[in-house]
Amino acid sequence: MKYNVNDKGYYGEFGGAYIPEMLYPNVEELRQQYISIMQEPSFQKEFNALLKEYVGRPTPLYFAKRLSEKHNTKIYLKREDLCHTGAHKVNNTIGQILMAQRLGKKRIIAETGAGQHGVATATVCALMGLECIVYMGAIDIERQAPNVARMKMLGAKVVPAISGSKTLKDATNEAIRDWINNPADTHYIIGSVVGPHPYPDMVARFQSVISSEIKSQLLEKEGHENPDFIIACVGGGSNAAGAYYHYLDTPEVGIIAVEAAGKGVNSGESAATSALGKIGIIHGSKTLLMQTPDGQITEPYSISAGLDYPGVGPMHAHLFASGRGEFISVTDDDAMNAGIQLSKLEGIIPAIETSHALAIFETRKFKPSDIVVVNLSGRGDKDLNTYIDYFNL
Ligand SMILES: *Cc1c(COP(=O)(O)O)cnc(C)c1O
Repeated sequence: MKYNVNDKGYYGEFGGAYIPEMLYPNVEELRQQYISIMQEPSFQKEFNALLKEYVGRPTPLYFAKRLSEKHNTKIYLKREDLCHTGAHKVNNTIGQILMAQRLGKKRIIAETGAGQHGVATATVCALMGLECIVYMGAIDIERQAPNVARMKMLGAKVVPAISGSKTLKDATNEAIRDWINNPADTHYIIGSVVGPHPYPDMVARFQSVISSEIKSQLLEKEGHENPDFIIACVGGGSNAAGAYYHYLDTPEVGIIAVEAAGKGVNSGESAATSALGKIGIIHGSKTLLMQTPDGQITEPYSISAGLDYPGVGPMHAHLFASGRGEFISVTDDDAMNAGIQLSKLEGIIPAIETSHALAIFETRKFKPSDIVVVNLSGRGDKDLNTYIDYFNL
């Protein structure tokens, strides 16, 4: 079985491009050109130079000695929290801004929920001097004031989405509407491995630098490129896709995906898409998503804004359905405790998204000789208020 995308844009039965007719020219232009643009030597050179000089790559692969002792296995942390802007998201926005320039686009649009992808997009637009419009639900604008301020400082225009539940999916609808109205000069930077083909594949390729670095770093530290397990949290699935990418077709490497169970998988307040999802179409892609029996998308819930998404990228739907990936869901409470544990044991305060991945060590046991790599997707600064409220700090 093949776990990466096929030439029609599918991962098994998942993926494709289910888009309104009006969007077809933009998506088709991107589909026809993305691979050849990414393979141009001048693109590779500029992308790699920016990852090194601007993002700060390669990020360390850090052996977490005290965490390993606690859980009686060998744990390495891939430090994406040390990327500029504090998470892996900038790997993708750097790639897409270079893509937009090659396509001759002058105007960048994006959607954002918690504001992390909006900040990563506004950052690269400032870097390149391109106009940036970020659509954000009106409720999220209120809830995420520091990120709204960051985007404004970086020169972006933040446009409130005032329809529906005034959150991420409404912001996405506004961004799509904008793209339909401005097909010639605008590129839409999607923030995860979601959306119509070729977005999931393009974003996975930009994030695949994570696993390509893990391979050479493990070779140096352990004498071989493969860990026994690679673990990542999954919202839309971009940090996970990057961490798994070069191991997808290496069955000796166990792939573990961690989703947000919120207040419990069966509590009605969760974002555990693989456990609860059924096949359907969201944001132009056929994938697993949480929905009512008559096909309405269910509002997801997680204490971490980055995992609060009702679907999952098509790569992950296929990893789940085929059994290649092991899917585990973690509650808010277990994630928060794992976040404190990492802070106290290693001096690293993780994003709450990342804390979900770390929480599995309480229940999922590994052998003492196992080499387990956890993708530390982001730092916890943005979540300080949530940690303060939760633990009465
Ligand atoms: C946005 C975010 C996530 C979730 O997004 P993916 O596309 O699933 O990676 C995870 N961790 C951090 C730190 C984030 O900012």
